[in-house]
Amino acid sequence: MQELVAKNVAAKKERLNEAPVIEEEDTKEVNESEEAVASDYKHLDLKERETDRDFRDEESTRYIADKDANKYSKYTGGEKDREVVCYECDNVHYTLSGATSSQCPSCGAYISLKDYDIVGLWNSSIRTRGDVLVQKKGSVRNISVFCNDLTIEGDFQASADCSNVVTVRVSGKLPGQIKCKRLVIEKKVEVEFERPVSAEFVQIDGVVKGDLTCSGQLSVSSKGALIGDIKAKFVNIQPGGDLTGSLEIG
Ligand SMILES: [Zn+2]
Repeated sequence: MQELVAKNVAAKKERLNEAPVIEEEDTKEVNESEEAVASDYKHLDLKERETDRDFRDEESTRYIADKDANKYSKYTGGEKDREVVCYECDNVHYTLSGATSSQCPSCGAYISLKDYDIVGLWNSSIRTRGDVLVQKKGSVRNISVFCNDLTIEGDFQASADCSNVVTVRVSGKLPGQIKCKRLVIEKKVEVEFERPVSAEFVQIDGVVKGDLTCSGQLSVSSKGALIGDIKAKFVNIQPGGDLTGSLEIG
């Protein structure tokens, strides 16, 4: 990195030294008018700034890449890939980030990594370590969904078991059982869970009616409200946020 910085400074100096030459050439072409000289300087300034930005971009990209390499190097010798948990035996392995399926190295089970983008009616079960998005015009009925992230923007009458985040972006009733790592109810959303929900973390920015079990932190923001029987390890209710019903902490 130091070498890179040194190079950049050297390159900058070189360009600065060149500047009067460029100015001379350019001004000859435009009969040495003062206006043209000024605008040429502006142009040079801009170039300098662009180079600075390019350099910063390069630096931050390199930093992210280094971080990723460190994160995964202990598993795969430095390849950048994604974590996959086997549905059958819970074994964790890593596969290339663009893969659409994988095979568990421990038990041999096939694991889908496909993402689903649901627009119409959907009624066949989903089991993937990819993400599921139920769009406004999507309707998911009477099935079980196993996935990583689930985002609900449409009709969702199914149960869900998600290894990461369930985000609810639309008001309505959710009749299925929901289990996830993190549950997020977005602003202005009013939702009713007809079956108990279990999550590690819960973030409520809208209005929720239902029974929740939260093994980590439950947060209710200033515009959020929660009505139901709640069990949580930690509770954080912002001023203005509301919690009605029974609350068991610990
Ligand atoms: Zn397995």
